[in-house]
Parts: sequence; structure tokens; C-alpha cells
Amino acid sequence: MRSSRKIDDVVIVGAGLVGASLAVALQGAPLQLSLIEPKPPAPAEGWDARIYAISPASRAFLQSIGVWQLLPAGRMEAVRRMEVFGDAGGKLEFSAYETGVAELAWIVEGGAIARALWSRLDSQENLELICPGQPALLDITDAAVRVSLEGGRSIDGHLVVGADGARSFVRQETMPAPVVAPYGQLGVVANFTCERPHRGTAYQWFRNDGVLAWLPLPEQKMSMVWSTPEAHAQELLGLPTEDLCARVAEAGSHVLGRLECITAAAAFPLTKLSVNRLVAPRVALVGDAAHVVHPLAGQGVNLGFADAAALAGVLKSAHAGADMGDFGLLRRFERSRAEDILAMRSATDGLVRLFRENVPGMRRLRNSGLNSVDRMPVLKTLLAAHALGFH
Ligand SMILES: Cc1cc2nc3c(=O)[nH]c(=O)nc-3n(C[C@H](O)[C@H](O)[C@H](O)COP(=O)(O)OP(=O)(O)OC[C@H]3O[C@@H](n4cnc5c(N)ncnc54)[C@H](O)[C@@H]3O)c2cc1C
Repeated sequence: MRSSRKIDDVVIVGAGLVGASLAVALQGAPLQLSLIEPKPPAPAEGWDARIYAISPASRAFLQSIGVWQLLPAGRMEAVRRMEVFGDAGGKLEFSAYETGVAELAWIVEGGAIARALWSRLDSQENLELICPGQPALLDITDAAVRVSLEGGRSIDGHLVVGADGARSFVRQETMPAPVVAPYGQLGVVANFTCERPHRGTAYQWFRNDGVLAWLPLPEQKMSMVWSTPEAHAQELLGLPTEDLCARVAEAGSHVLGRLECITAAAAFPLTKLSVNRLVAPRVALVGDAAHVVHPLAGQGVNLGFADAAALAGVLKSAHAGADMGDFGLLRRFERSRAEDILAMRSATDGLVRLFRENVPGMRRLRNSGLNSVDRMPVLKTLLAAHALGFH
């Protein structure tokens, strides 16, 4: 039991992918940091059920902080093509070649990124990693922030960053309640070995029972995310493995032939969460603490990495000895992120609504919309560039 006397520049609460990447991005800066997290990443074991489509912008960020280089090359797959299908014959195709990039995204296991980030934290001189650690109280005064941990220790700082996920303690203690709207869907995830090679193609089907995505993995494997109403998700989870494989293969029109399940199916509730402000006096929010979007665009963690990159950039640009909780600095961070977050939220929400509506004519309209975009190379490239994180 002791009360810390030093005052950190930045106290980061939550060392998921976003909080840990922020800490690593501040490595070498003349700042003292604390990072508080209840549990370390799980050790590698089989294939991870949580797989991310990492945009080129996120890859560039992870590379710039020396983390991309640590990822196991044999467990990642480049997406070179993407095929999107509507629910009545609409189809949209993207290719890295047409878009003028080497790859559209990289598919990487969440656990692999977490372990690579944590291996950088271990040797970080300007950081105290407090794990296990869990905040119990947060006191904010004009001059400082005090985070009191379960167990009695307290950490003082100039800025507290909430990187503690969708149920953020930091947000709850410092901001008005967010707007939370459950989609009434679960994201069912599982990994499969495929009979036919995917050739680096990601597939997405907008179906009347939700959105089905297949993301390519190495060794002729793929990862599925099926965002679907709860009752259907529960039915999928209850199927014997062979029946699940058959159901998933059929839902994807057997484009990769027969499927064999290599991880047990799991499900996550899908909820939209938005806040009006990313900052408050001496507080900033990043990642899912600040925004939760539907996984159909596979952009949640990419938005979070962009938050971490932007906040690290603003903090590092401040003059030596500056107060990291200065509200002017925090506003700069908030302004730099507003457009990106709003655009992603509107786009994913719009798509969810567009493909959920069953009013007469809507089905034809949305499918012919996909086909029209497919015939407009400039618009397609612009859409792809936005989705990839190029602006
Ligand atoms: C089914 C599904 C599929 C998805 N697929 C994709 C995809 O393909 N691509 C993509 O970009 N995104 C995807 N996402 C979204 C992505 O998972 C999140 O956006 C991302 O994990 C957010 O990272 P984060 O670090 O902000 O939050 P989290 O991953 O939630 O991490 C928060 C961290 O804070 C810690 N924490 C929690 N509470 C406290 C506390 N009180 N004190 C201290 N620490 C605390 C937690 O232990 C955790 O380590 C998907 C989401 C779902 C549900």
C-alpha cells in the first residue's frame, strides 16, 4: 500500500491492441508513462478465433513503431482481391492491382499482434506496466489526475487515457453516458480449412440473415465472421461441427469447396457505441472506449490504431516539459479524429440499414447499386482508398 509521489505525464488504462500501441508509439519520447491492465495476452495456442483485417494505414503505423516486423510471417495473409455479393445478384469486386496498392489488407490473428506489442512494452524504459492492475477510483483536479487501483496503490499523472474497451471505466467516470444501440445481432466467428485455394481473396455476402465474411488465412485456411440475428447465431452455435461446416459452405455458395472447422465457433454481441466527445479535462479516449462500429467493414481496430497514432503524434509534438493534459493539445487530437470516426460510423450504419430493409424495391435497388459501383472504376478506387485508410 503506497501512494505514488511521482507524477507521470500519461497514465493509460487498458493495454488491449489500442492502449498497448499508444504506449509503444510513445517509446523514446521524453515522457513518463504508466500502463494499467488486468491481464496479459494469452500465449499462442492453435489458431486465434479473433482475426483482424489490418488496413495499409494500420500496417504502416505498426511498422513505424517496430511491431509489424515482429509478427510471424507464416501466420499472416495478404488480401489481394475482395468480392462483395448482394442478396439478389449484385456484385462488387476490388483488387489491389486496380486500386494501385500491393495489398488491400493483411489478415492477422489478434493474439499475434497483442504479443508483439507486449514484447516491445517489456523493454520500454519510459514505461511502468502495471499488470495485473485495475482502477477503482479516478480523481481529476485542475492540476492532475489520480488513478487509485484495487489493492490500494495510486498513480498520479497529467493525462489519463481511456483505452479500456467498450465498457470503459475511464469513460464512465469522466464523460456523459455514450449512445449505445445493440444491433440485435451476434458476430459468429470460426476458422476453417478450405478444399480450394482462396488466392488471397476476401469474400463478403450481404444476406437476408446478416453479413457473412470470409477472410483468407495462410495454408488454405479462412476465418469467418457471420454477423447475424441472435436467434440464427444461437442456432449456428448449436450445430454439430459437420453441419456448421456445411451450412457455412452453402451460405458462401461453395466458392472455396468443402470446409473443415479448425476452431470452435464463438460469438460476440454486436453493439454500436458513440460518444459526443473524445476528450474532457485531462482525459482522452481511444479505441473501443470511444467508438464501437459494426464489424462488417472490419475497421474497429483500424480506427483505434489511427486514434493511437494521432494521440501519440499530438503528445510528441508538444514542447519539452509541456503539460500533457493541456486541453488545447487534447482538442487538437479530438479534431484530427472527428471526420474519420464519423465517416466510418455513417458508412457502416448505412450499409447495415440498407441491407436490413425489406421494403418493396429496396432489394433491387441495393443490388443494382452494387453493380453500378462495380462499373465505375474511379468511384470504386475512391471507396477502396477510404476503406484502406488512405485519405
Ligand atoms: C466479432 C467481431 C469481429 C471483429 N473483427 C474486426 C476486424 O476484422 N477488424 C477490426 O479492425 N476490428 C474488428 N472488430 C473490432 C475490434 O475487436 C475492436 O475494435 C478492438 O479490439 C478494439 O481494441 P481496444 O484496444 O480499443 O479495446 P479492447 O480490445 O476491448 O481492449 C481493452 C483492454 O482494456 C482492458 N480493460 C478493460 N477494462 C479495464 C479496466 N477497468 N481497467 C484496466 N483495463 C481494462 C481489457 O482487459 C483489454 O485488454 C471485431 C469485433 C467483433 C465483435
